Amino acid sequence: MTTLAIDIGGTKLAAALIDKEMYVIDRYELATPASKTQDALQICLAELVAPLAARAQRVAIASTGIIQDGALNAINPENLGGLAHFPLVEVVTRLTRLPCIAVNDAQAAAWAEYHALREEIGDMVFLTVSTGVGGGIISDGRLLVGTGGLAGHLGHTLADPNGPRCGCGRIGCVEAIASGRGIAAAAKDDLSGCDAKTIFFRAQQGHPQAIALKQRSAQTLARLIADIKASTDCQCVVIGGSVGLSEGYLDLVSTFLSGEPKTYRTQLLAARYKHNAGLLGAALLAQEVIS
Ligand SMILES: [Zn+2]
Repeated sequence: MTTLAIDIGGTKLAAALIDKEMYVIDRYELATPASKTQDALQICLAELVAPLAARAQRVAIASTGIIQDGALNAINPENLGGLAHFPLVEVVTRLTRLPCIAVNDAQAAAWAEYHALREEIGDMVFLTVSTGVGGGIISDGRLLVGTGGLAGHLGHTLADPNGPRCGCGRIGCVEAIASGRGIAAAAKDDLSGCDAKTIFFRAQQGHPQAIALKQRSAQTLARLIADIKASTDCQCVVIGGSVGLSEGYLDLVSTFLSGEPKTYRTQLLAARYKHNAGLLGAALLAQEVIS
């Protein structure tokens, strides 16, 4: 059976055909519509699935935001603007006439990374650090979704009560400090206006403020990991995302984590998948639910 997997992110939409061995056969990408209205997203989705739907037997969607009862609810309006509530499964079912499931993208990526683990592990947490900070929790071999779809949104736990306001409305979330957007927002003087990629490049050249910003992100993530260990007793944390997988970042997190008491440390692993984790995880979940 072939799955049409769709990934809906704040900056791009991707769709791929995935076979039963989890190989990506065909893949397309489009920019997320700038207007971020329901109509614009619907038109983009129609364009994306048109060349692929006839060759698929089911659809699996991984999307940013909270997915509850097949609908997308934006947790951070900065990511998805006017899409406060979008009936994702309903729309895609209508477009493709195929059975369809939807799951949060970080939860889906967590499931893909869990299946890629080489060791036999029951409890794993996945963190993605890129524009935002997302997460997914595997407990006793099962993906935690939660009745409202909120489980694993670890980027919105508290890092600093005196920190900046997060796009979700809380003050001092991990995401507001450790994410690419958080790093860029804290940049001053000659780094003001630079994105995280540029700041990390400058850090490698020895720029003191850039080094401090990178360290602040990694330290915030290390503290989150200690909290995660305390709350889930996970055997490992897998870290992905463009910031998470950038040169030297994981080592820095590991150094800060080694400063925590031993009880709160855990094994850190780099994510195996870069761009396709959400697509593959959603396809794996669909394979289990839609036979
Ligand atoms: Zn937040």
